[in-house]
Amino acid sequence: MAGDEYEKKKTEFLREAGEAFDRMMKEDQEQMITFDQMEDRALEVGGKLERWLVEKRLAEDARQKTEGSQGCCSQCRKPLQLAPTPKERRLRGRTGEISFQRQEGYCPSCRKAFFPSGSGVETGR
Ligand SMILES: [Zn+2]
Repeated sequence: MAGDEYEKKKTEFLREAGEAFDRMMKEDQEQMITFDQMEDRALEVGGKLERWLVEKRLAEDARQKTEGSQGCCSQCRKPLQLAPTPKERRLRGRTGEISFQRQEGYCPSCRKAFFPSGSGVETGR
């Protein structure tokens, strides 16, 4: 990740983390009476942060892998044509559902669509 983008994302994360902290320490304090309730809230705000981190990391991975190279068709090895807009993809992770954008490529010879960023994040679903 380039310096500016890195710092921007980090600032975003710190803001998210700050919100998580507030949710835990400020809002509805009177509603968190039992240990279970506190733990539920901590899991909720923590899970949101986890999903945020995974989403951003996935997006960065996809960006790096497609940057400068269109990728090639896995069948005929011809360069892929990139779709004008990235496709929204969803993964069901351990921390909940994660959505991210993926650039899709198309091979005119084989008439097939591929994800040039590779299969590193595939879950087999
Ligand atoms: Zn092809």
